[in-house]
Amino acid sequence: MLRVGNLSARPGEKTFGYLETAQSRSGMRLDIPAHLFAGAEPGPTLMLQGAIHGAEIIGSLAILDFVAKADPKAIRGNIIAVPVVNRAGFEMGTRGSLVDDKDISRLMPGNRDGSVSDQIAYVYFNEAIAQADVLVDFHAGARTAYERYVLFSAEADPNNLTLMERRRRKLVVAFGLDQAAFFPPGTFGSGAAKAAIEDANTLQVTLEFGGGTGWFKNGEDNVRDAERGIWNIMKAMNMIDGEFESDGPLCTVYEAGVVIWKPPVDGLFIRDAKFKDELKTGDVYGRLVDPYTGDLLAEMRTPKDGIVIPSGQEWPTVGATSIGILGSIERVEDRRTMDLSVSFE
Ligand SMILES: [Zn+2]
Repeated sequence: MLRVGNLSARPGEKTFGYLETAQSRSGMRLDIPAHLFAGAEPGPTLMLQGAIHGAEIIGSLAILDFVAKADPKAIRGNIIAVPVVNRAGFEMGTRGSLVDDKDISRLMPGNRDGSVSDQIAYVYFNEAIAQADVLVDFHAGARTAYERYVLFSAEADPNNLTLMERRRRKLVVAFGLDQAAFFPPGTFGSGAAKAAIEDANTLQVTLEFGGGTGWFKNGEDNVRDAERGIWNIMKAMNMIDGEFESDGPLCTVYEAGVVIWKPPVDGLFIRDAKFKDELKTGDVYGRLVDPYTGDLLAEMRTPKDGIVIPSGQEWPTVGATSIGILGSIERVEDRRTMDLSVSFE
């Protein structure tokens, strides 16, 4: 029997319900929608998570496509599939929750006595995430950025990998994209929530996938490739049989250590650099111009050498934000020779 808080599914069964988490002071409930698949045969537990940042919805669409096709009778192990974690943010297209202005993804393992988002994180972490062997966590560029890579936490010592890090390397490649990246510790603030998930022995693989003004051009492909990745992860975890499908044989892994930040002036952002460009220190990455006169307001130059990875803002840019990310190639994995199977027995 698969149990997630107030929800359950018997072996061979698929169920849907709302995981009871928390309510606002006026009684508005923000319970989390969850599809449970209890496999007919035993196996690991896979968790799929969309829209923990409310405006990042590629994963939500891919998870719904997946849910419509998956058959619990043909699965070894269990799946917990959540198309939208942050419902209050999703409704209004915002990253954080509108109820208390918090980012649920940063709150794990949550707090039973905290604000609404703290309570949501507490129940969601303890009832769902903590029982998963693998968490596939879909993010995207929302409305104003485009991304396409698998993201994972920096390894403590690449020459002496932990069991979780060895497994994660395989799943990062198994997902099927041609690019992956990790940020050196401290690049984007504290990793306390990610550490809490790892301490629960849940292997997290994050996707930065799609979004931006290229939605109409690339949206369908990204949703399809995101769903492809879910099936690939299940193959790697031996939950189903089948061949891997991918962008190609190679997966380039970047250490993404250079973030180009927007200066404290708003304007129309014009990117001069293109994906895969190799920039030298001081090269122009992009410009901010006055949206009405076209006058140059600022140039953004790279502070270090690096290769442009598929991550960055598209043209309408206001507020404090990163504009783009450069990386250096840490390694290139070859799917033709790499054993991608991961056992959780
Ligand atoms: Zn996100």
